[in-house]
Amino acid sequence: MKLATYRQNGTERIGAVCGDRVVALSDIGFAEATMQELIRNTDPAVFAAAETKDRLQVALDAGKSVPLGEVELLAPIPHPAQDVLCLGINYMDHAAESARARNQAFDGKREQAVYFSKRVNEATGDKADIPLHADITSRLDYESEFAVILGKDADHVSREDAWKYIFGYTIINDVSARDVQNLHQQWHFGKSLSGACPMGPWIVTVDEFACPPAVGIRSYVNGELRQNSNTALLIFGVDFIIEELSHGMVLQAGSIISTGTPSGVGMGMNPPQFLKDGDEVVCEIDGIGRLTNTVRA
Ligand code: MG
Repeated sequence: MKLATYRQNGTERIGAVCGDRVVALSDIGFAEATMQELIRNTDPAVFAAAETKDRLQVALDAGKSVPLGEVELLAPIPHPAQDVLCLGINYMDHAAESARARNQAFDGKREQAVYFSKRVNEATGDKADIPLHADITSRLDYESEFAVILGKDADHVSREDAWKYIFGYTIINDVSARDVQNLHQQWHFGKSLSGACPMGPWIVTVDEFACPPAVGIRSYVNGELRQNSNTALLIFGVDFIIEELSHGMVLQAGSIISTGTPSGVGMGMNPPQFLKDGDEVVCEIDGIGRLTNTVRA
């Protein structure tokens, strides 16, 4: 099921998306007001159950839905409780392109995962703007990423059990200021500028994906295909990441893990092409949808 957070007549709601319409979850028996509460309180298997799908159909038939075009989609988790956990260079082709962009040799080996975090006061929803931040960066870049939402607290979880801890998946554009990232020799600041975490357009619950998920991941800038890969090519997969991190820290329900980006970012082009005022960036993942944002000065 596709689960969205949206604003309708000034009120923030959570709902189930069916085609081009959304049904408030309160109309199909869920009392939670926010996605964070829903994730913490609900086994995602509920959203795969026939009973829930029947209730959704009854609500649709009764006219209890609104067109998506009449609401403002927000990021599915508009205010993450903690920093987003991110994987660096987790596709081999992006590892090679990153080394090339830095004039470094690449030995073709990735033996350890690279982890960093991205501070997000407010995640950016579908169709909202990405600030250009021209006063601090002239090298703003996009990164289309497959993101995992944990459904319950994960502490010392094995790789085999990791799938049971996942609530669903969404798309993140890990917007990155390359010059800030390099200047400080640590990625946190350059990855954490305000408005630099487009997320959405919704969460798709875990039951709609294989384990491990093998879905196409792409990005487009002004309609031009830039990234085109598949999550089956992740070097460190979702189950590995949950096992490794949960052996050193408790990953709380609602945690967001962004699994890294494939090659085709602006930094890796020859010559590099960074984002400009007015550019439209689309991040697309099969089985989830398209996350579209426009860069604004
Ligand atoms: Mg990234």
